[in-house]
Amino acid sequence: MRERERKKKKEMAGQKRDEVMKIGEEQDIVIVGGGICGLATALALHRKGIRSIVLERSETLRAVGVGILMQPNGWRALDQLGVASKLRQTAIDISSGEFITVDDGKRHELALGKGELRCLKRMDLIEALAEPLPANVVHLGCQVLSIILDPVTSYPILQLHDGSMIKAKIVIGCDGVNSIVSKFLGINSPKLFFRCATRGFTYYERGHNFDDQFRLYHSQTVQLGQLTVTDKLVYWYLTRSLTSEDSGASKKDPAYIKEASMEAIKGFPEDMVEMIKLSEPKALYLTELRYRTPCDLLRARLAKGAVVVAGDAMHAMCPFISQGGGASLEDAVVLARCLSEKLMQAANQNQLGRKLMVAEALDLYVKERRMRLFWLSLQTYLVGLTLDNTSKMKKVLGMITLVLIFGDQKSHSDYDCGHL
Ligand SMILES: Cc1cc2nc3c(=O)[nH]c(=O)nc-3n(C[C@H](O)[C@H](O)[C@H](O)COP(=O)(O)OP(=O)(O)OC[C@H]3O[C@@H](n4cnc5c(N)ncnc54)[C@H](O)[C@@H]3O)c2cc1C
Repeated sequence: MRERERKKKKEMAGQKRDEVMKIGEEQDIVIVGGGICGLATALALHRKGIRSIVLERSETLRAVGVGILMQPNGWRALDQLGVASKLRQTAIDISSGEFITVDDGKRHELALGKGELRCLKRMDLIEALAEPLPANVVHLGCQVLSIILDPVTSYPILQLHDGSMIKAKIVIGCDGVNSIVSKFLGINSPKLFFRCATRGFTYYERGHNFDDQFRLYHSQTVQLGQLTVTDKLVYWYLTRSLTSEDSGASKKDPAYIKEASMEAIKGFPEDMVEMIKLSEPKALYLTELRYRTPCDLLRARLAKGAVVVAGDAMHAMCPFISQGGGASLEDAVVLARCLSEKLMQAANQNQLGRKLMVAEALDLYVKERRMRLFWLSLQTYLVGLTLDNTSKMKKVLGMITLVLIFGDQKSHSDYDCGHL
């Protein structure tokens, strides 16, 4: 048993680049970033019989944040990637929700929309995406510093932190909110939102008494979501106004994160206070929220030649409608589908023909994704405005625009990214 665990850990750790890749070697498809989107994209390509490599700067595959809410659109994408049934085994189906106003204790039914809603452990998701990949796909400890174009072939060249370079025929930037690939494409950096989010897990040794409902507590300044993951494990997240103390070293200090969370939920029900008090210090994350503006998503050049972005690198959004991860999985499916169709047509073409086909595939992908991502990010932004307790006008404006534009607030989860 121990031997099997050790082997699995070794596989999960991926491989150091030098063991499998010669410096300066040319690669067909390089994915920058081994988070949810990078791994899902590698898996989607692998399922289509297309080889890629993933360069991840961390020394191990890791998941920032602890739980993730997966909505029906995300499950459709996971089904296409062939990992949904495995994940369903360990994540409880959440069939109903409750909205609780803390100040007056009033409870309303929370509309969850139709279809499958589950909270996953992020690491389970990362493992499920990484496990089916061949051994030499994920390369850890590989930080990409910049991208330049080969002056002769115009193929992208990736410069790594150790001075080495990798030539690639296609570069897919899945390198998150501070993406260097999106900088290469000239996309504006994501903006800082005025709220921050704290995420945590609470483990109840003897089991907890919560049912499988999604609970959303709301006070003047704080929103607290609570979801059951297993009989013993509960995921919670909290959003509140960002303060100057939340930046710098303190955002990595579990003691500060817990203290600030306890302070924020003063007056909340006893079981919620207890839940945060008992939360695992190692699994506490404080995130300053950043977002790409809906306008930038409409206007930006999201692909140029053989370089494209996906996931948060493309559409960083705040977590108010819990769709960043689901949308990243959709990106992976659509991108692999577009690439595989065009690469098949390009099989008998010369180098120039293949290059044109790749550019067409990436443009097709961007075209298919752009409006979907625009609406998702607009809705997220408006929901964020409704949480603004510093400006009543912004709050009211957010609410009115939300109702006018998005009648059905849950229709974003009906989206189907289609077959791989
Ligand atoms: C508080 C919070 C709660 C959320 N809740 C939900 C939710 O419930 N449901 C949901 O669907 N979404 C949720 N999201 C959004 C979701 O977490 C993200 O959309 C998703 O993780 C994006 O995945 P990604 O792979 O694009 O980026 P990331 O997860 O950021 O991964 C990027 C990877 O690239 C690597 N990297 C970065 N730069 C380089 C480089 N130069 N070279 C090599 N590697 C690099 C990083 O180390 C990292 O591993 C939430 C987000 C936040 C902040």
